[in-house]
Amino acid sequence: MEVRDRLGELDDLFASRRLVVVSNRLPYNPNRTAEGIRYVKGSGGLVTALDPILRLSNGLWIGWDGGSGTPVKGKRITVSEADGEGSYQLRFVELTEKEVRHYYNSFSNRTLWPIFHNFIGMSHFSKAHWKTFFKTNAYFGGTVLEEANPSDIIWVQDYHLCLVPNFIRYHNPNLRPYFFLHTPFPPYDTFRVLPWCKPVLEGLLGSEKIGFHVKSYADNFLDCVEKISNVPVDREWGLVELTDRQVKVGAYPISIDYDAFRDVAMTNRVMKRAEKHRGRIGDRIVILGVDRLDYTKGIKERLLAVERFLEKHSKYRNRILFIQVAVPSRTRVAEYRVMKKEVDETIGRINGRFTGEGWAPIQYIYRSLSREELVAYYRLADIALITPGRDGMNLIAKEYVASQVDKRGALILSEFAGAAEELTDALLVNPYDIETVADAIYRAIRMPSGEKTARMERMQDHVQERDIYCWVRGFFEEVS
Ligand code: ADP
Repeated sequence: MEVRDRLGELDDLFASRRLVVVSNRLPYNPNRTAEGIRYVKGSGGLVTALDPILRLSNGLWIGWDGGSGTPVKGKRITVSEADGEGSYQLRFVELTEKEVRHYYNSFSNRTLWPIFHNFIGMSHFSKAHWKTFFKTNAYFGGTVLEEANPSDIIWVQDYHLCLVPNFIRYHNPNLRPYFFLHTPFPPYDTFRVLPWCKPVLEGLLGSEKIGFHVKSYADNFLDCVEKISNVPVDREWGLVELTDRQVKVGAYPISIDYDAFRDVAMTNRVMKRAEKHRGRIGDRIVILGVDRLDYTKGIKERLLAVERFLEKHSKYRNRILFIQVAVPSRTRVAEYRVMKKEVDETIGRINGRFTGEGWAPIQYIYRSLSREELVAYYRLADIALITPGRDGMNLIAKEYVASQVDKRGALILSEFAGAAEELTDALLVNPYDIETVADAIYRAIRMPSGEKTARMERMQDHVQERDIYCWVRGFFEEVS
């Protein structure tokens, strides 16, 4: 089906109103070539879904390019591709080194990220970082003010820019920004630990509407607004009752382009890749973990669960292969470096303990994979072991489901991932309960093939129906 058909009525909405997306990172990444910097489109779900809408609405995407080091002439470029209809513009927000350190590496990723994921102990609080975060949000907001008109639909993305909505509205009440949070929103008792919890709420309440992945995050937000900001809320209708207007708050679970993953999974090239791996692994059971290397993803606990499984079931010692794929992430942040060391050491220790007959039970791939490589692992895996300690949604779980063309695989999923609210046919586990995760691995191995297929089919139906386009349609349903 054509992308525009999948957008349904949004087609009309965005043909008449311009979409202005604001996010920390632009959807195109700088790539140094002999001819200078070329911008290459990212492959993430958000970019895939929004790219056609932006083309349709002759839209604008405002953000940082991740630090190419080369100022772009006029600070904007037009994106138009030979194969895509229409074009849109990228407006660059340039950040100084200090802003990158304080706003991005520190306040965004060492303060808000851990707090929003319930990792209070990992949070750092610094007034200097907060001040730069505030100023940088004002800078993003100021760029929106320069660019946007009241007829535009302004959509601000994620925790890095949580002060932007109020900044925009305060300076121009005719602009009415929308906001989506891609992380969880924590319960009141966690959120109130943040010394700047009140201004963060105030920043978000500048929005017309705030979207979260699941209802419990929206409920947490409403609790915080009521208790911290002393503003009345209507839980039944998902409304914050400000004196002069209402803010709509709701759950809109993000998803993937199901058909795109499925198409890749069915190509010969992916099948051949998966077969090649299979040739090396033989008939051993393949268990797969894929994550950005982040402490919220529960990688260490997952390794301990694999170790516990091998302890309990010695007959499987030479019969399984656990493949952990990890994309390097936030390598400038101290906690991430510490965590990487711990993961490396744990894998070394477990492999040292259980390697026998020339076979090591864990294979570790520490790099970013191409879409084809990744999907070949999804196809290959008999079990996907996805056990974050906390995760806003977790798209890996949905990508695994979409890529399981043969419907042979089983999904073990953390109950603390947003995706667990939708993928109820997975084996849901508490990732901190090592014994139970080890038992879930055994259960998945022993599960009759008929049951695996039936569970996988139900999950596939769900993800296909509620794909990334459904997410955008749902969010803008009542906008005209
Ligand atoms: P997060 O946004 O916290 O990283 P998600 O699970 O929601 O977590 O999204 C991760 C995205 O990163 C997925 O779309 C997945 O395909 C991609 N990804 C994860 N690991 C790799 C890898 N090793 N190589 C390439 N892409 C990866």
